[in-house]
Amino acid sequence: MPTFVRTDKCDGCKGQDRTACMYICPHDLMMLDRDGSVTGHPMKAFNQEPEQCWECYACVKVCPHQAIEARHYADIVPMGASVQPLRGDNSIIWTIRFRNGNMKRFKFPIRTTQEGSVQPYNNKPEAVFDEIGDHSTLFTKGTHSCDTSQFSAG
Ligand code: SF4
Ligand code: SF4
Repeated sequence: MPTFVRTDKCDGCKGQDRTACMYICPHDLMMLDRDGSVTGHPMKAFNQEPEQCWECYACVKVCPHQAIEARHYADIVPMGASVQPLRGDNSIIWTIRFRNGNMKRFKFPIRTTQEGSVQPYNNKPEAVFDEIGDHSTLFTKGTHSCDTSQFSAG
């Protein structure tokens, strides 16, 4: 079930060229309706193709105003209930609102290192893009073998 934007909370990321939700969506679904001509809500974001939404929650987590919610399947989260994350530097808090008014919060750590300290290519050589087609230079060279006979025709 797709995401939707709470227009009362969205500030359009103050009109930046790419809003946080546009930047993070792996499917390029989030758009900013600058003049309101699409949705009737100027400077508010919207999910341009809800049926294509992966429900990955990336935009829900990244929105600085908690303006994005995901519609859940009714058998998991009935109408009137909600599941909303609030991401911090080293933890995330999930707020679960039940439709009878009850509310629960769960806090989980999300990292074990300082933000920005990870060096994913540490001790690895720089990529040489001219050699991108030469598989003998891949890091994984020699660690996998591939039986290509299955790909031959006939
Ligand atoms: S990230 Fe949040 S506040 Fe920014 S444009 Fe998207 S919905 Fe609006
Ligand atoms: S939940 Fe994921 S796929 Fe859906 S709009 Fe947000 S970032 Fe894009």
